[in-house]
Amino acid sequence: MSVSIIVDNVVKKFEDTTVIDKLSLQIKPGELFTLLGPSGCGKTTLLRMIIGFNSIDGGSIRIADKEVNHIPVSKRNMGMVFQNYAIFPHMSVKDNIAFGLKNRKLGKEEMEKRINDILRVVHIEKYKDRMPDKLSGGQQQRVALARAIVIHPEVLLMDEPLSNLDAKLRVEMRNAIRSIQQQVGITTVYVTHDQEEALAISDRIAVMNGGVIQQIGTPKSIYERPANIFVSKFIGTSNVMKATLKVENGEKYIQLSDTYQEKMANLKDQAKPGGTVLVSVRPQEFMINEEKVGLKGKVIRSMFLGINTHYFIELEQGEEVEVIQDADAVELIPEGATVYLK
Ligand code: ATP
Repeated sequence: MSVSIIVDNVVKKFEDTTVIDKLSLQIKPGELFTLLGPSGCGKTTLLRMIIGFNSIDGGSIRIADKEVNHIPVSKRNMGMVFQNYAIFPHMSVKDNIAFGLKNRKLGKEEMEKRINDILRVVHIEKYKDRMPDKLSGGQQQRVALARAIVIHPEVLLMDEPLSNLDAKLRVEMRNAIRSIQQQVGITTVYVTHDQEEALAISDRIAVMNGGVIQQIGTPKSIYERPANIFVSKFIGTSNVMKATLKVENGEKYIQLSDTYQEKMANLKDQAKPGGTVLVSVRPQEFMINEEKVGLKGKVIRSMFLGINTHYFIELEQGEEVEVIQDADAVELIPEGATVYLK
C-alpha cells in the first residue's frame, strides 16, 4: 500500500535564519514527486525534514495521515539514496543490500528471497558477489537504490542521485529509476536542480526558490503555463519580452514593436489595456518567416545541432532572443542576416 505525504505549514530555522517559512505541499500515494530549484533553495533541507535528519521548527509532516514530527529516523520506515551512493566499500553488493535487513529479524530464507528479488528489479544479479570498487558509477547507484528499497519502505527519498554520473549514464539511470519506482509503486520524493531530469521522470514537480514554492504541477502544465517569470526561466529556456496590452473591438492584442502585434486569447484578467505586460516566449515558438512580418532582428550567432538550429537574434528594439527552428524548416541562415520573427 502506497502512502501520502502531507507537509503542512512547515518551518525550518538554522539559528536565527529561517530557511523554510510555512511551506505546504501534498504528495499522493505512489507518486514520484520532485523538488526542483536552484542551489540553496531549501530542497535538501525539506527532504531531510521528511526523513527526520532535520528537526521541524513549526507546522507538521504527516505520512499516511500520521504526524511524524517527533518520530526518529530509525522508526520512520523510509529508504534514502544519496548523491554519493553511500554504499560500504568493504562489503560485496549482496552484503550491502543485506545490511539494511539485519535488524528486521527476517528468517534466512526470506532474507535471501528479498535480496534476490531486488537484485532482479534493479538488474544487477550478475554483480551479486562483486565489491563496489569493481562496479561502474551507474551500477553502484543501482546497489544504493536496491539497498534503499529492499527494506520495503513506505517512502523513498532521493537527493540528486544522478549528479555524479556522466551525461549519457544520467539519462539511462533516470529511465531505470522511473521504471523501478513504477514497478514497486512506492511514494517517492526526488530532489534535483536539473530541470530536464525533473520533467523527464516526475508525476508532479514543486518548483522552489528561496525556500518558497513557486508552482506545483505536472511537467507539462509547469512548462506550458509557468506561474511566474522565475518558473518560465528556470524550466526550459524562455525569452521574456516587454509588450503593451491593447484591446480592439473586444479582442486582446499584445504590441511587441511599433509595427507588430499578436492576438492573445488567454491573457490573465488583471492585465489592463494600455499597460505593460511581460511575455514569455519559448525559443521554438518563434517562427522565422520570409514574408517580412513580425519582429525585425539580426542573427548574431547560429548553432546547428542536427535535430534543430539555435539562432541568437538581436531585435531592432535591443533585446536578444533565442530562437530554435527545426533543422529542415529553413535554410541555414548566415550570421549577420536580417530576419523577421512571428
Ligand atoms: P543544493 O542543491 O546546493 O544542495 P538545496 O536547495 O538543497 O541546495 P539546502 O541544502 O536545503 O539547499 O539549503 C538551504 C539553505 O539552508 C541554504 O541557504 C543553506 O546555506 C542553509 N543551510 C542548510 N543546512 C544548514 C545548516 N546545517 N546550518 C545552517 N544553514 C544551513
